[in-house]
Amino acid sequence: MLIDGHGRVVNYLRVSVTERCNFRCQYCMPEKPFSWVPKENLLSFEELFLFIKVAIDEGVTKIRITGGEPLLREDLDSFIEMISNYKPDIDLAITTNGYLLSDTAQKLKDAGLKRLNISLDSLKPEVAYKIAQKDVLAKVLKGIDRALEVGLGVKINMVPLKGINDNEILDIMEFCRERDIKVRYIEYMENHHATETLRGMHGKEILTKVKERYKIYALGREGSSPSFNYRTEDGYEFGLIDPHKHDFCESCNRIRLTAEGHLIPCLYFDEALSIAKHVKRGDIKGATEVLSKVLRDKPKENRWSIDNQEDISSRAFYQTGG
Ligand code: SAM
Ligand code: SF4
Repeated sequence: MLIDGHGRVVNYLRVSVTERCNFRCQYCMPEKPFSWVPKENLLSFEELFLFIKVAIDEGVTKIRITGGEPLLREDLDSFIEMISNYKPDIDLAITTNGYLLSDTAQKLKDAGLKRLNISLDSLKPEVAYKIAQKDVLAKVLKGIDRALEVGLGVKINMVPLKGINDNEILDIMEFCRERDIKVRYIEYMENHHATETLRGMHGKEILTKVKERYKIYALGREGSSPSFNYRTEDGYEFGLIDPHKHDFCESCNRIRLTAEGHLIPCLYFDEALSIAKHVKRGDIKGATEVLSKVLRDKPKENRWSIDNQEDISSRAFYQTGG
């Protein structure tokens, strides 16, 4: 079992397989970075898998593949297959913008994938365009339909932004209710890479919008999930991811691995250690030692609840996988 320096059980690994993306979301990567990480610095699937095996053997039971846009990485299905063959009962999921999903959903399902989180910030083509800075909506909706058709579990992520898509909180909920899938509203997390003028909605403001139509009951956090769950009086369950809340980090169970091999204990801070040289030479002992150090030094909490954001990581969410 993996336990961090604050006594929290860590059983969740998020793996970013690429920092590249085919969207330019204003809250994440509004402009193409000056340079991408050179391809030769990216770990191969075999190298990432070597660390994943270490993490699974040490107690990780949940893995999420993310990015950047993970579906841009060629042969992602072969990577999914490696992981699901090694541990068939692993809770294995992908977070994607859905743009390339209609062509890949069946392959991913056949490779052993069970679940996907798909980002959907608007049902209006022009608003989706404004956020992603590309005409994306039709393809994303097709991707969602296809994922459901092939039998993948789907959850929707929405980041409500003031003056942009804050009037669609209920529309997105209705879209999800009709398909019997869960929506999770994510508070916008301030970061150095986002468009400066963006203003996110606080969790309370999101709930106020939902309450305009539904009476809701708080259910609480689902285990160590970052999502606080609610139920409408007619039985629909939805989630709120609220990193600005003081108790958000109390049950944090996750660490992050980037495509270059940086092992990151907390999204908010810059601290990270590299496992790259260890996995490149097949050094399992060295990789395990880095994992132990990262766990020992995992910060107690982020500082999004504090106005002064001077500690905030300079690493972009598209590098850490959000
Ligand atoms: N490209 C994929 C996608 O968009 O789903 C996966 C990577 S993305 C970094 C993972 C998640 O982080 C997405 O649901 C996205 O909406 C969320 N995200 C990115 N930047 C964010 C921010 N500044 N605040 C809150 N959520 C953010
Ligand atoms: Fe790309 Fe996802 Fe970031 Fe949007 S949120 S720019 S889709 S990585």
